Amino acid sequence: MKPHKIAVIPGDGIGVEVIAEGLKVLQAAGQKAGVSFDLEQFPWGAGYWLEHKVALPPDALDILGRFDAIYLGAVGLPDQVPESVGVGQVVLGIRSGFDQFANVRPVQPVGGCPWYLQHRKSEDIDFVVIREATEGFYCNIGGRYAPAAAEVADIIPMRPAFVRSKEIALQTGVFSEFGCRRVIRYAFELARRRDGRKRVTSTTKSNALTHAMGMWDQIFEQVAGEYPDCEHEWAHVDALAMRFITNPERFDVVVASNLFGDILTDLSAVLVGGLGFAPGGNLSETGPSMFEPPHGSAPDIAGKGIANPIAAILTAAFMLECLDELEAAGLIRRAVALVVEAGEVLTPDAGGTATTEQVGDAIATMLQQ
Ligand code: NAD
Repeated sequence: MKPHKIAVIPGDGIGVEVIAEGLKVLQAAGQKAGVSFDLEQFPWGAGYWLEHKVALPPDALDILGRFDAIYLGAVGLPDQVPESVGVGQVVLGIRSGFDQFANVRPVQPVGGCPWYLQHRKSEDIDFVVIREATEGFYCNIGGRYAPAAAEVADIIPMRPAFVRSKEIALQTGVFSEFGCRRVIRYAFELARRRDGRKRVTSTTKSNALTHAMGMWDQIFEQVAGEYPDCEHEWAHVDALAMRFITNPERFDVVVASNLFGDILTDLSAVLVGGLGFAPGGNLSETGPSMFEPPHGSAPDIAGKGIANPIAAILTAAFMLECLDELEAAGLIRRAVALVVEAGEVLTPDAGGTATTEQVGDAIATMLQQ
């Protein structure tokens, strides 16, 4: 079998620490399942910017385009480097460069992880949140204007506060018919493939954001008509946020636009035990997909050796699943579940005293058994 070509960008802070453990476990799973990898590491990120004044070299996308997948830790040194550089150039640059339209966040808590819901059991919860990741309010269109500016002349009379303001800021959301249809279709395809309830929940706020969300709702209904074997339903995002906590067991696949998905996926990270346990990936249909734990570079704990590597390790399992290496992915999930359930080798965020490396070692060792 040809090895899977994987570009590895550890990034900054704990990104470097957790990716080292992710690679250790990935290779252990590969050995056991007979899967091989051609791994190449790239030092890009905020730290790279301090030395080279760019976070990514100009040919980065050409280089990454030759790989089957990208495995990223986290980027950002917020005290030393402008935030627009780390996350802006590297994470958003790669996501938009390869049209990684679906940010996918599995919500499958591992038994024994920190648990915040007294009224539900972790084993009852198993769903996926899909966030459209290329459009909406994250297109950076807008500006800040003095009240006399021509751009806001028609807007100023709309509200008393606008009239009394020294400055007006506009932020435009852009939603394309193709982009909405593509991510909604992806959600139904996933619901069809998953061994779940075959139910897709769409979330908008079309009572207030009538134009864009109205179009999304309409497309959702059209796409749902193509999948009569799947149930479909919709909820306003405020109501859905509440139901993530009160009835998380009822969801199967949830699909949301960029901003709402961004907020909901952090809420869903709590349902798997926190950022240290939440895997994620950004999927493309035309270039390499990028797999990254959703947490950042965590400057408050970076260098202490106590970051939880499980999010990065489960992200590696998700990457293997997307590369169709189901056996190797299953081996990692099983090893993580056994280590977390045993509760003896856990980092401080999960109530333990172990180091990042000890958790990685314990999972790699469990994998061999
Ligand atoms: P963060 O996710 O880095 O940290 C938030 C909190 O969660 C911190 O208290 C941190 O210690 C804790 N935490 C996060 N991951 C953990 C882990 N694996 N184990 C244990 N604890 C963990 O978010 P932040 O502090 O807002 O951001 C720090 C930097 O990371 C910023 O520069 C930000 O822009 C960047 N960032 C990057 C990405 C990315 O690369 N995709 C994502 C989010 C934030």
